[in-house]
Amino acid sequence: MNEEHTTSENEDLDEEILFLVSQTFKAISDPTRIRILNLLSKKEHSVNELGEKLNLKQSTVSHQLSFLKNLRLVKFRREGTTLYYSQDDEHVMAILQQTIDHAKHN
Ligand SMILES: [Zn+2]
Repeated sequence: MNEEHTTSENEDLDEEILFLVSQTFKAISDPTRIRILNLLSKKEHSVNELGEKLNLKQSTVSHQLSFLKNLRLVKFRREGTTLYYSQDDEHVMAILQQTIDHAKHN
C-alpha cells in the first residue's frame, strides 16, 4: 500500500509539540533538577528546605525552580515571605519515577 495521508491524518508532531517535548526532556536531564523534582514528588518544600536537603545555594535552587516553573512542572504557594514549591505535572513526574526505577533495576 502506498496511500497518501491527508493533513488531518498526518501523524507527525507539529513544531510546538516537538519543542515542548524536547524542553521537557531537557528539564529532567539535569542532575540538580532531578534531585529537586524527586524531593517535590514526595511533598512540598520551601526553597530553604530544598537548599538544605540538597546542600545547594538558595540562588541555585531558585534558578532551577524558575526553569521548572516556566515549563509548568512545579508550582508554588506563598506563606508570608516563604515560597513552598510542589510538583505540578503528573505525566512528567511519572516519567521521572519510571526512569529512576529503571536506573535502579539491574
Ligand atoms: Zn528498565
